Amino acid sequence: MPVGALWQALADLVLPASCAGCGGSGQTLRHEVCADCARAVESLRAAPTRPDPAPAGLPACVALGAYDGRLRELILAFKERGRHRLARPLGALLAEAVAASAAPDRPLLLLYVPDTAEAARARHGDHMRALARCAAERLREAGRRAGLAAPLRALPKADSAHLSSAERAAGASGAFVLRRGALERARQAAPGSVTVLLDDIVTTGATLAAASSLLADAGVRVDGCVTLAATRRYLPHRAIWP
Ligand SMILES: [Zn+2]
Repeated sequence: MPVGALWQALADLVLPASCAGCGGSGQTLRHEVCADCARAVESLRAAPTRPDPAPAGLPACVALGAYDGRLRELILAFKERGRHRLARPLGALLAEAVAASAAPDRPLLLLYVPDTAEAARARHGDHMRALARCAAERLREAGRRAGLAAPLRALPKADSAHLSSAERAAGASGAFVLRRGALERARQAAPGSVTVLLDDIVTTGATLAAASSLLADAGVRVDGCVTLAATRRYLPHRAIWP
């Protein structure tokens, strides 16, 4: 090994040299992202999205962008590739989407879809909890009143790869249980606040609907869901032959 190569390899372990969005190297990275990728995701504007068909009990949903391109790469890098420093910028993007969706004078109560214990172990922490914390912080820095509560606990997941969407929806309804202490705090905070359920991606909406229904039954009404991304086929319909 040439002199210097070992150091380079070691340094790479500490500070990834490639952008988490485009994989490009040799650029100045801020929070693991190059200037081009940062510009691209910062230019996204939150918009309403709705799975079609939408499952019963799904609140209004807002997503920052389609689940593709740089946004998809950043979510995957954060969630599956250990790029933990993305929590702050991705949390800030979630905060932007929340701020754009709720009346500016109302206090906010942020809830999130938690990881299963197994997923949280593999990711060295619950990735949505990290994002929700950063989002709440960002909102408070911007002068909003924003609380965070964690009334949901995810149960171990059955292997759902081979299930139909109806079976998946049935599975999603049994995916969570309530954490009593946190539920009580959410119940007290919710009435005067806009209650927002956060997740990284909305696909069929089954998970968000199941979590929202469980919370509603326990006295915490979710006013809306905010995600970073929506899978493209569920974005508002566009002409097939423009
Ligand atoms: Zn990049």
